[in-house]
Amino acid sequence: MAKQPVGDNSVGRMQFMLTMRRRGIGDGAVLRALDEVPREHFVGHEFQDAAYADQALPIACGQTISQPYVVAYMTEQLRVRPEHKVLEIGAGSGYQAAILSRLAQEVVSVERYRTLADAARARMQTLGYQNVDIRVGDGLAGAPDRAPFDRIIVTAAAETVPDALVEQLADGGVMLLPLGPQGGVQHIVKVTKSGAEVQQEELLGVRFVPLLPGPAREL
Ligand code: SAH
Repeated sequence: MAKQPVGDNSVGRMQFMLTMRRRGIGDGAVLRALDEVPREHFVGHEFQDAAYADQALPIACGQTISQPYVVAYMTEQLRVRPEHKVLEIGAGSGYQAAILSRLAQEVVSVERYRTLADAARARMQTLGYQNVDIRVGDGLAGAPDRAPFDRIIVTAAAETVPDALVEQLADGGVMLLPLGPQGGVQHIVKVTKSGAEVQQEELLGVRFVPLLPGPAREL
């Protein structure tokens, strides 16, 4: 087999797309977004070889970029449409926000670490993704100045559904979030809002870093 040039992820990317399909991701728009967004831009130099492996990887500030399958699964379950305004809590590397930016009209993403938010913002600029607003702040408060949101996705685990986020969900809106104790059993929960009625449905079992209160004191 011909040797791949350094930095060429083409075989890894092909396997990555096959893995997503084999694991059941079937939505064409979600698959296109996964194919389009270069995950190697979102992980450090030391992890370039693993950029297209189906695993979570460490990023700065002791956080992680989520496992691609979980990103794909949550994105598919969110049923994002092109006219939607989406809120993400936990920008981290910006990878999930980048995927959402290919599907929605606009994405607002809140991150408690300035270091991560700045790096994620720089990646969006490099890639020319102009419909993403990455902010530093406490995601538990959401982004009240931009509410309501058609879709909300939380990428860190909470023990209970944050009230402010339910409030900022539009009528007919959907929110996905990992719920459960740290180090214990967590599930992706789908919250749907219809008038005054709020329903919850438990989906996939997962493991996420914790949703912590307040902006980070250190960078
Ligand atoms: N979506 C990210 C995954 C990041 S891991 C990606 O695609 O790379 C979860 C992120 O949530 C971490 O960066 C963590 O700092 C952030 N986080 C945790 N609690 C938060 C809070 N209260 N407000 C905002 N961000 C928070």
